[in-house]
Amino acid sequence: MMQIDILTLFPEMFSGVFGHSILHKAAEKFAVQYNVVNFREFADNKHSSVDDYPYGGGAGMVLMPQPIFDGVAALKERAKSKKPRVILLCPQGARYDQRKAEELAKEEHLIFICGHYEGYDERIREHVVTDEISIGDYVLTGGELGAMVVIDSVVRLLPEVLGNEESHMKDSFSTGLLEHPHYTRPADFRGMKVPAVLLSGNHKLIEEWRNKEALRRTLIRRPDLLGKMELTSQQEKWLREVEKEEN
Ligand code: SAM
Repeated sequence: MMQIDILTLFPEMFSGVFGHSILHKAAEKFAVQYNVVNFREFADNKHSSVDDYPYGGGAGMVLMPQPIFDGVAALKERAKSKKPRVILLCPQGARYDQRKAEELAKEEHLIFICGHYEGYDERIREHVVTDEISIGDYVLTGGELGAMVVIDSVVRLLPEVLGNEESHMKDSFSTGLLEHPHYTRPADFRGMKVPAVLLSGNHKLIEEWRNKEALRRTLIRRPDLLGKMELTSQQEKWLREVEKEEN
């Protein structure tokens, strides 16, 4: 079972996401255990302060090292885990993607540190953290939403969490490409028709159509992804056909 610990100043924010849908089911199936901790509990000063003014002056408050150093040490001790991944949510971190989700899904213990205010004391990055993750080139108020994004994308990859009908194997990015389009009933919705091949019952043709449409989507929306993957000779052939059709 994967252990996920979260150090945050706003633990209540997590009850919604952990109480519903796949993240909730995963805990019920004992694929994962969540432990959300307010790191103010670890502050060793009279007022339980966790932040202070920046040395050198300037706007905003900075998270102090002590509560986070001691919080991480306590979580490691509690889980008896020697090498947890200690993940700092941070707009300056490496941009998060599906490859990183796959990598983290292989771990047994993840500890997330959610920042707030102006940022963290630099010694936290240097001495406690194993990974700095950004969920995109924009600035959030705190790391909680980022941690939720990462946790959701990791937990759905754990064995047995998704049923067959929710499988992630063909999801966008898992294959290196964007996923093909989907249709459901009715076959004709107000004059807008489902592509005939999908109604043909010919599985080989359907598979071919899906493969080509995944390539088309990726070519049009995210050509950068094509540059990062090695296509099979069959995919190369489909891609050339798609390129011709799109010109
Ligand atoms: N002053 C910081 C900077 O310019 O890099 C931004 C601090 S931000 C207001 C407060 C916290 O939100 C950060 O410490 C981090 O935990 C979280 N955060 C903000 N943007 C994020 C992003 N793109 N990805 C992950 N976490 C983010």
